[in-house]
Amino acid sequence: MKRVMIGILGGTFDPIHNGHLRMARDMYDQRLLSKVLFIPTGHPPHRDEPQASAKDRLEMVRLAVEYKPGFELDDREIKRDGVNYTVDTLTELRAELGEKTGLSLLLGMDAFLGLPTWHEWQRLFDLVHIVVARRAGKSLKTAEMSAELAAQWQQRKAIKLPLTPAGTIVEFAMRPVDISATQIRELLHEKQSVEGMVPYSVLNYILQNHLYE
Ligand code: ATP
Repeated sequence: MKRVMIGILGGTFDPIHNGHLRMARDMYDQRLLSKVLFIPTGHPPHRDEPQASAKDRLEMVRLAVEYKPGFELDDREIKRDGVNYTVDTLTELRAELGEKTGLSLLLGMDAFLGLPTWHEWQRLFDLVHIVVARRAGKSLKTAEMSAELAAQWQQRKAIKLPLTPAGTIVEFAMRPVDISATQIRELLHEKQSVEGMVPYSVLNYILQNHLYE
């Protein structure tokens, strides 16, 4: 039986950029994932409100993933009112997809290191594998982790994604892309070009709708 392993990439996507897309693409192309769900956050719990509206962020993700095999937009968090906790979204997905489906939450290194600030973060390991993409080529170091996170890492680290539905932490060497949404917003604010940092369709949308000016 073919193993199903669904990748989940959540983010503010303010805006979505080629770093996000490269992370998903590299995982998908290595045939590690059956598909990748891109889930834009409505109201992120532990950061400022995004600059672009939920509608614009959703539209940019839609444009970025369309015609890309294996990539799908999932708008459940944006449709929901109030603050979104990842653990609630993953509980919902797990209920829909069943106990046997493999689920992998894709995180950049910065997001992984901040995991202990997330609501009920230890429950995430019952729901998903955590795949940590090296950001700008840097590998994970326990010295940078909180004691609780380092303990989880020691207990759960695996060399590659196992056949189980959830519970491990896997480090993943993506081709590094040193881009952040913050950098893109700043460049646009200064009226500088962000060509090559986002897909053309997204760049067009940003310019036509005067986002981040
Ligand atoms: P911001 O600069 O506004 O904080 P961001 O570029 O980090 O945004 P998010 O939408 O917050 O983008 O990120 C969603 C996920 O994508 C996070 O897990 C983050 O670590 C990861 N990510 C973002 N940019 C990259 C990148 N260039 N390489 C690898 N992972 C990335």
